[in-house]
This record gives sequence, C-alpha cells and structure tokens, in this order.
Amino acid sequence: MSRRLTLGSFQRRNARIFTQANDRHYCPEWMVLKMYRFYSKLLGCSLGGSVRADYYLTMVLSWSCGLANTLHINLERLGNSPYLPTENPTTSSSLNEALLSMGGSIAELGETVTFFTGTNNTVFLNGIKTYLFVSIMHTCAVAQFLDIDLGDEFRKCFGKGCPKCHFPICDCGFLPAKVM
Ligand SMILES: [Zn+2]
Repeated sequence: MSRRLTLGSFQRRNARIFTQANDRHYCPEWMVLKMYRFYSKLLGCSLGGSVRADYYLTMVLSWSCGLANTLHINLERLGNSPYLPTENPTTSSSLNEALLSMGGSIAELGETVTFFTGTNNTVFLNGIKTYLFVSIMHTCAVAQFLDIDLGDEFRKCFGKGCPKCHFPICDCGFLPAKVM
C-alpha cells in the first residue's frame, strides 16, 4: 500500500462514500460475499483471464473497510489487537500461496460473521477482527506479489466518489440496476 495512504484513511474515505448505501442495503454476511465475489474475479486474473487485478484487489479492500465501518471496527487499531494470531500472515512465499491464504481467510471471516450475527457474542466479534485483519494482510501481500500500489489504485477508483454511480456519496450500493 502506498506510503501516503494508510489503511485508516482508506477506511475513513470508504465511510464517507458508502456508509449510507451500506446501511441501506447490506448485512455483514453480504459484505463478505462481496469480498469473495471480487476475490473470485481476482483469481480469474491470475489465470490470465483479465488485466483488472488492481481493480478487483481494491474492491476487496473497499468491502473489507465497509464491513469494518458497519461493525464499528477501527482497522488501524487492529495491529495491536491481542486477538491476532502469533504467526505473521504475510509470510507467503509465492503469489499462489498468498492467493490461497487470502481466500481462506475471507471464508473464515464469513463463517465468523455468521456466528456473530446469529449470537451477538463478542467472542465472535473478536474473531471477525482477527480474520478481517488477516485477510487484509493477505490482500496486501497479493498486491505486493503483483507489484500493485493499492494507494494509487484507490485514488483512481474512489478519488471522485463511488466508481459505479459516480456520486460523492454512493447512491447505488453496487446493486444491479433492476433492484435499486
Ligand atoms: Zn454508487
């Protein structure tokens, strides 16, 4: 990630553009599904199917921030969280390993989100913080292997607001037009 763009500033920008739309349209489970959807498209890129890996990675990170905003999780504080695993999640030795780890952590995030919304148990909220942080670390690792500057791509996508409806405060929520 670009040195001039921190995860916190990414999260705050995401909140300004998308909180209204996210509050209207999205439950946490759906937001993880959005992460997984763009992750799947990213896998297509790694198979040579597309050249939009930078966009898909940025969208995974954007939905990670959206989930954090919805659940009132401050991503910048997670680096000091006692709930993180002791192993360094960014030690993948290859792009394939980083991609597999990224997908696994998003899936575990989804499972934990489902447990949390079913129980409201803070143990599961702590699990969400762990897997959200780990999945973001893997997302950044994949970006590094692909030599993608997520800060630059973020500015390109979100500099003027929502990249889909182009409003400074998103009015589309990334929903298909027929259900808006
Ligand atoms: Zn929009």
